[in-house]
Amino acid sequence: MASTQAGQVAALIEALADGTVEIVDLTQPLSESTPVIKLPPPFANTPGLSRTEISRYDDRGPAWAWYTLTLGEHVGTHLDAPIHWVTGKDGADVGSIPPTALVGPACVIDKTAETEADPGYLLTVDDLTGWEADHGRIPDGAWVLLRTGWGARAQDEAAFLNVGEHGPQTPGPDVEASRWLAGERAIAGFGTETVGIDAGAAGGFDPPFPLHNFLLGAGRLGLTQLANLERLPPAGALLVVSPLRLVGGTGSPSRVYALVQNPHG
Ligand code: MN
Repeated sequence: MASTQAGQVAALIEALADGTVEIVDLTQPLSESTPVIKLPPPFANTPGLSRTEISRYDDRGPAWAWYTLTLGEHVGTHLDAPIHWVTGKDGADVGSIPPTALVGPACVIDKTAETEADPGYLLTVDDLTGWEADHGRIPDGAWVLLRTGWGARAQDEAAFLNVGEHGPQTPGPDVEASRWLAGERAIAGFGTETVGIDAGAAGGFDPPFPLHNFLLGAGRLGLTQLANLERLPPAGALLVVSPLRLVGGTGSPSRVYALVQNPHG
């Protein structure tokens, strides 16, 4: 260690500079064409992103460009705060989430092959304890990330939402796995590549949307529409989530990235 300043942060700065630690962007690009969830009637739906020009190097502002954004809180790569769900309504809003919950170890559970075989694949408690058998107990403050390959569909709304005659078919945890994630480990949150943290079919589960119900009810966080999970190791990466500090917010588009040991570094 050539660092002249002792300490872990100095070591990290050096590792980032020499490439032994890399930053992987887990954020999908956010644009007017970013897919958003579509709820069936009678439920209200969220707008995606739209922009109106304030000025663009013109008479309204000769040297500057800027826009007004219109978008739902739950658009693109975004965080779900506890108050997003009725079970968490007395919990934290986005602006009250402590930053310690937004930085933590990433436990990446790879169900890509299972999802290729069954796009409605349901993650089970056995999948979670199987990951622990290989990589150790899920640490306190961890982010459990479900890797499915679904991020490859993120720019194609029909393929991404994958709504068929029996409703949306996308992967996510089953009821017992949802209960386990919220109650059996002290995780900070759960992240996925799909449009929501629950499986596509979860509206018909008992309870409906069990991960929203249990996880947000337990004061934990959700993270959706992640990218590039295939670039993370199963264990050992550090996740960083950066939502707006939106007072009263139920969610927020977020930049999400991971610090990863370079396997070649
Ligand atoms: Mn959401």
